[in-house]
Amino acid sequence: MPYFRCGAFVSTTSVDSFCAAKITGHSLQRSASRAVTGDPEEMDGFHVKITEAVCLGTSLAFSGICYYLYRKSRSTVDKLDDAPHFTIDKKLKDILKATPGAYLQYAVIEGTVRPLGEPLTSPFQKEIVGVLHKFMLTEHRLVWNSLSHSWTDSERVMHQRVNAVPFVLVGSDETTVKVLCPLQASGVHMETTYEKFHQVNYGLGDIVGQYLSGEKLKGQLETEEMLKVGATLTGVGELILDTDGTLNLQPPSNGSQYFLSISDFGTLRGDQDSVAVWWKALAIGFTLAGAAVLLWVGRRYYYNLKVRWEQEQERREFKRLQAEALRTHAAVTGPEARQDGTDDHMDNLCVICLSQPRNCILLDCGHVCCCHNCYQALPHHRCPICRQTISRVVPLYNV
Ligand SMILES: [Zn+2]
Ligand SMILES: [Zn+2]
Repeated sequence: MPYFRCGAFVSTTSVDSFCAAKITGHSLQRSASRAVTGDPEEMDGFHVKITEAVCLGTSLAFSGICYYLYRKSRSTVDKLDDAPHFTIDKKLKDILKATPGAYLQYAVIEGTVRPLGEPLTSPFQKEIVGVLHKFMLTEHRLVWNSLSHSWTDSERVMHQRVNAVPFVLVGSDETTVKVLCPLQASGVHMETTYEKFHQVNYGLGDIVGQYLSGEKLKGQLETEEMLKVGATLTGVGELILDTDGTLNLQPPSNGSQYFLSISDFGTLRGDQDSVAVWWKALAIGFTLAGAAVLLWVGRRYYYNLKVRWEQEQERREFKRLQAEALRTHAAVTGPEARQDGTDDHMDNLCVICLSQPRNCILLDCGHVCCCHNCYQALPHHRCPICRQTISRVVPLYNV
């Protein structure tokens, strides 16, 4: 039977190019076998990468933590809003006497600080006396950051000392409220009374050593903070009338936050409110980051589905063209014509999988070198023989 390749410009691979194809064939063979065996990486197309899972998990965890902290600070602001305000005077004792248990769970009072006994004196300025004293020695360093290629500040508390003496808040008519456990309280209740930075001077050898070690000591900062006698203090906590008739302000037993502040109540509440807003913004930010990761994964999933759908369409179109061509030739040459273009000769096998017959023509170069399955598995849609971009593929049929 006469046997020829159709198409004037269709050339079969020469022996040389066949060998060349065999060399590059290994990697192609791998992708081809992936397509044939249905490797999940290629065929299922969708699986969340480890980095994506880590990003998603982290952003969701952080948004959860931020939301929890937001709820917590929001409830603190709500409790502050609900807390009744009292002036420190004789009436306060009467109110507490009339209250069951002689205590108010959460109340706001304001008074002037006065020590019960000898006050603390600042070691730096003898004229300053207070009831709370805090001294801190902080070491400041510059550390080389290899990621940002710059020196970044780092500080470390080397020494901290806190002293306190018992004190009361005095009202307008000399009524006093004793403040218990002031060190457990939140809020700014001390002011900086002394600050000094001791700079370190270096010789040349030190500077060389610093560049080698990636750490520079800047110096040490001495800070002194005090709650001064005579300062006006806002206290938010549990008010209780003791059996001996003294009024006490102490940390609330119901777990609400205990506040002592040298600023007024409005500022204290405003600060807590901005903390809540900050946590809310962070929670929203992390949720959006999580959503962005999900969108990214979804986009990849959609893209994979699209590629698979397009390949399927292409495969169907190829089969249709193949069947059409066979029908036409059967009509022309009669029923004895070859049915499927299959050829058992070794030199007609696909150069990539070496098992299927070559059944497609790659255009525009016109090479006939592979089967349609392998063509679809080609990573870059380039002819495996001449590397030319494949613009179209048509079925090959032999008669
Ligand atoms: Zn093949
Ligand atoms: Zn080619």
